[in-house]
Amino acid sequence: MNSQGIKSSLHQPLAAHAAVGVARGELLARLGIRRPIDLLFFFPRGYDEPAPLQASTQFVENTRVAFAGTVVEISGRVTQTGKHILGVLVAADDGGAVRLTWFNQPFRRNDLRVGLRLVASGLLRSTVLNWEMVQPTITPLADDEPAALAKPLPRYSLTEGLKQAAVRSTMQEVARPLIEHIDEVLPDWLRERLQVPDVHRALADIHFPENMEAALAAQRRFKTQELLVLQLAITLQRQQRELSAQAPPCEPSGKIHARILNRLQHTLTHDQLAAVADIGRDMARERPMNRLLQGDVGSGKTLVAQYAMLLCAAYGHQAALMAPTEVLARQHADNLQRSLASSRVRVALLTGSMGRSERRGVVESAASGAVDLLVGTQALLSSDVQFKDLGLVIVDEQHKFGVVQRAKLRTESQQPHYLVLSATPIPRTIAMTAFGDLDVSTIREKPPGRAPVNTYISTPENLPAWWEFVDRQLSKGRQAYVIAPRVAEVDASDAASAEGIYESLRDGPLSHRRIGLLHGRLESSDKESVLGQFSRGDLEILVATTVVEVGIDVPNATLMSILDANKLGLSQLHQLRGRVSRSSHSGFVCAVAAAGCDTEDNQRLQAFAKSDDGFELAEMDLVMRGPGDLLGTSQSGLPSLRIANLVDDAALLALAREVAKELLRDDPQLAAPQLDKLRRQTVVRYGESMQLSDVG
Ligand code: ADP
Ligand code: MG
Repeated sequence: MNSQGIKSSLHQPLAAHAAVGVARGELLARLGIRRPIDLLFFFPRGYDEPAPLQASTQFVENTRVAFAGTVVEISGRVTQTGKHILGVLVAADDGGAVRLTWFNQPFRRNDLRVGLRLVASGLLRSTVLNWEMVQPTITPLADDEPAALAKPLPRYSLTEGLKQAAVRSTMQEVARPLIEHIDEVLPDWLRERLQVPDVHRALADIHFPENMEAALAAQRRFKTQELLVLQLAITLQRQQRELSAQAPPCEPSGKIHARILNRLQHTLTHDQLAAVADIGRDMARERPMNRLLQGDVGSGKTLVAQYAMLLCAAYGHQAALMAPTEVLARQHADNLQRSLASSRVRVALLTGSMGRSERRGVVESAASGAVDLLVGTQALLSSDVQFKDLGLVIVDEQHKFGVVQRAKLRTESQQPHYLVLSATPIPRTIAMTAFGDLDVSTIREKPPGRAPVNTYISTPENLPAWWEFVDRQLSKGRQAYVIAPRVAEVDASDAASAEGIYESLRDGPLSHRRIGLLHGRLESSDKESVLGQFSRGDLEILVATTVVEVGIDVPNATLMSILDANKLGLSQLHQLRGRVSRSSHSGFVCAVAAAGCDTEDNQRLQAFAKSDDGFELAEMDLVMRGPGDLLGTSQSGLPSLRIANLVDDAALLALAREVAKELLRDDPQLAAPQLDKLRRQTVVRYGESMQLSDVG
């Protein structure tokens, strides 16, 4: 085959390959491997590392070692029970002797002869006479070949029916001969800058490494490349935004600043003021603000967001605030309305469940400029929502939305300033990737006068005592949340459901209390009425799914029971707890771990009980569950990376970011022919998701 032919064969179906066949082809397809090229870029998860080469004088029983020596004696025998035992005595190069033993592998003898030099590795045992290794791995050596370590063996992800050995041999037979036909994407000087091997070396070393050093260098190459492509996409996106972008400058002059502070419901804390100063500085410019405001649950992000909206309105521009749930959007709208009573600023709400004519009215007033502050759910993203003069977009609880959605709202108008709020502290590496290059403001302190929350971990057996405690607290005038992860019983399993627990409380220990039920499947008018009753105090207990997780603010509610708490993540639990630390009354949280709770669940619940610091918990969550989960799995907007890892490869990410900036500073469109392949890879990978329109 000529080289063109080989290149096209990289993309032919793998199952057609004689060394693969239909059956294995199907198994590989389950792992996403359909073509030889997929196989080449299906990287090992890790390596079985060889035992260290050791002198026999330094042997320690029960350790795994490798040593070099010469076969001096071979004996095979069959025991009375019919077991075959192959014994091989090896004189180690440095003098000692080691007996190698294999059970029921008589064929091994074929590879052995007296006088053969070899490296053996395995677990050491000592017998009366000498050292012994049972079922060792051996590598024959040529007569004068120096002893070397065995090679690391790649470990691939598998699927049922597919063995490690099968993947390894497919790699050897199918992938290996194709390596030299893969195009290099990174020019020489760039590889030098990144300190990575070329693609042919790296592909060979990642699948067939001579030693761990080579394997790690190869991994580093592909991790760096992957992160570089990601950073190029992010930097291109930001560059596009800034080049094309003229945002309306809104300077917080002394007078305006004072007037806005006056309208807010509380005196701002030091951290809130600092965040407000950051925002004022950003919004005073013609370049769009692009800022993340992070602060623990209950730290008072809403007031800061209100400040930004009022600043925008002071200059006559419109502002939009998007919240992840209808309940929360409504709460924001009500809040704003309250602050703005007796002002000219007009607030409107837009949600998905609105009636047609009501909706039309709101949409029209956004388009005509009759409304100044529009609060809503994702309904704000629909294509018929247009603004006359949008100056600011705020996304509350950003981690509930994906990146693409955010981009949509941004491009609906010219270029508004942009502020995202998040109660999940976002590690820098993730902020850099998931949200482009956001500037960050952080609120660390809680508003004054907050009593601490007491957190208990419990089991279902202890619930009766807990309900008694709840009952006494209700008698003192407090209110309570009861959270169940599910809406309804799905099957006969005993997982707690909101409907189930609502009925059992109503008919049981708290039957004399006024109880309401809130979950996502209710009609929106019902949700509203339930929530209204709870916040007015007409309901004493609110049984709910995790819809209350985000943002609901009822300061008098100080009790929370979380059923099946082990089904929830750490950040989510902490968000829930945030609902009951909003006043000077102490909060009480009882997290109930259902049956079937494993060690990891227990660890998480213990961590939850021990710490009330959202930043600390988020770090733990990141380590325990990985970045995807932290931000809400598939919705997170985090790119799915093949080989790099945002937790472990932070240093490579920083390098990739620096290099991406250098490249684009010198060549904003990556137009240099040398960078053609790299540019194409970036566009293929991220063009659509990041809307990289100008680079093609
Ligand atoms: P989050 O940051 O979780 O969105 P909120 O903005 O809902 O928190 O604020 C939580 C509670 O703290 C609200 O009841 C709010 O009125 C109150 N709050 C916010 N800032 C202050 C402040 N500076 N002083 C007193 N209370 C405040
Ligand atoms: Mg909030």
